[in-house]
Amino acid sequence: RDSIAGEMAKPGGAGAGAVEYEGGSVRVVVRVRPLLPAEVEDGLVKAGMDLGQRAVLLQPSAAEGTDGAVDEPAEGNVSRGDRARKYIFDAVLGETCTQEDLFARCGLADLAAQAVSGFHATVFAYGQTGSGKTFTMEGGQTSRAEQDGVVPRMLAETFRRLNAVESRGDILSYEASVSFAQLYNEQVLDLLADTQAKIRNAGEKTGSLGSGMGYQRSLSLRWRANEGCFA
Ligand code: ADP
Ligand code: MG
Repeated sequence: RDSIAGEMAKPGGAGAGAVEYEGGSVRVVVRVRPLLPAEVEDGLVKAGMDLGQRAVLLQPSAAEGTDGAVDEPAEGNVSRGDRARKYIFDAVLGETCTQEDLFARCGLADLAAQAVSGFHATVFAYGQTGSGKTFTMEGGQTSRAEQDGVVPRMLAETFRRLNAVESRGDILSYEASVSFAQLYNEQVLDLLADTQAKIRNAGEKTGSLGSGMGYQRSLSLRWRANEGCFA
C-alpha cells in the first residue's frame, strides 16, 4: 500500500499551483471569457467588473449613480444599484487564463487522484449559452492540444495515474469504463450508442426517415445505494 501512496489522495488536498480551498468538498470557480471577435465588431463592451484571485467586484451601474443623473447604462454592465457588489469564490479565472491554468488552479489533478483512490468526483460547468461551458469542458480547436479542455485532460491524468499504479506491479488492478451521455430536455441520451446511425441508415434505405434526430430512445435515470445515480 505504501508504494501506491503517491497516486492516492485524500479529498481536500491541493496540488502544486492549485488554490488552497477552505474546507468543504465543493469548490466553486468562476471563469470569465474574453469578448469574441464578433462581439467586438457588434460594439459590445465588457461588463464593469474587477477580478481578483478570489473575488469579483461588480461596479455600480452608471444609470443609477448617486448624483441622480439619468445616463444611459453602459451596455453589458451587470450590476444594478448605486454600489459595487463583491462576490467571493474559491478561485476567479480571467480572460487570459489558459486551459492548462484552469486545470491547475481548479486542483483537477488532485480530483483525478481522489477518483483513482475510490472517491466519487464530479466536475460540472454551469452558465448561460455562449458563456464558455463547452470550450472549458471539451476544448477549443481540436487540432490544438493546448486548447484541450477539462474532459480530455482529466482522462489523460486519470489513465496516467492508473498506469503508474499498474506498471509498478502492485496488487491492485483497475477496470475503467467510460460513458458519454447528454441530458437534454430532461432526457438522458447515450452519445456512444449507435442507435442514431442505425436509424439513419434504415431511413436512407427506405427513404421514410429524416435525419434520424429525435428517434433515439432516452435512457432512464436510476439510483442504487452503492452506485448512486446512473443511466
Ligand atoms: P457554451 O457551451 O457555454 O454555450 P461555448 O463554450 O460554445 O459556450 O463558448 C461560446 C464561444 O466562446 C465559442 O466560440 C468559444 O470558442 C468561445 N470561448 C469560450 N470560452 C473561451 C475562452 N476562455 N477563450 C476564448 N474563447 C472562448
Ligand atoms: Mg455548449
